[in-house]
Amino acid sequence: MLKVIVFDFDGTLTQNRKGSNCWQEVWKSIDELSYDDFLYQKYARHEIDIKQWFDLVIERFKEKNVELKNLHNIAKTIKLLPGVYQTFKHLHDGGVKIFVLSGGIRQIIDKVFKRAKVDKFITSIQTYDLIFDSHGKLTGYTHPNHDLENKNQYIEQLKQKYNLKSSEILFVGNGANDEAVCLSGVDTLCINPDGTDFSNKSIWHNAIENCENLTQIIKYCDKNG
Ligand SMILES: [Mg+2]
Repeated sequence: MLKVIVFDFDGTLTQNRKGSNCWQEVWKSIDELSYDDFLYQKYARHEIDIKQWFDLVIERFKEKNVELKNLHNIAKTIKLLPGVYQTFKHLHDGGVKIFVLSGGIRQIIDKVFKRAKVDKFITSIQTYDLIFDSHGKLTGYTHPNHDLENKNQYIEQLKQKYNLKSSEILFVGNGANDEAVCLSGVDTLCINPDGTDFSNKSIWHNAIENCENLTQIIKYCDKNG
């Protein structure tokens, strides 16, 4: 029986955002996408680790005066996939706990969920927090207590915390940064794939190549129930 569902955010719960995510929206808003790519390449070549990457990102955001209002403006441009409210309500009413596990930015994700009035259905959101002072100026960030690039670690924590079997958890994602989830042994569902091989059954147990409405996932949840 399904007890917990974990959703990725960017491209899974949002629409028309292939190849983009919260971070890239911030880079775009300050016209610095090339610097984002420069840092990514450094990370990919192992010249910097994830913490150094984040430190450099925050440094640049500060130089470019990224403020809380920038993130709130970005949140206004992000639309959830149709059917998120109905799906979350259906799951929540059925006693399934909803978690969001994203490599994105909390201040953006929170706003998007609040506007859609779906925040009340969510047990917890695990993502990166930027820190702002009382004037909305960026001062730093909080790194979560595990690596969001390895999402299986968080799933393992959830299993322990709620004493769950793998078969009681479903993960719904869309991208390459979700692939590690399969290592945790939980059921995985790929929707609107972006940069991942959704036909690889060892990574994705099920897939909906074109998910236009999130209610399309319900049969995979109920099948588990
Ligand atoms: Mg994604």
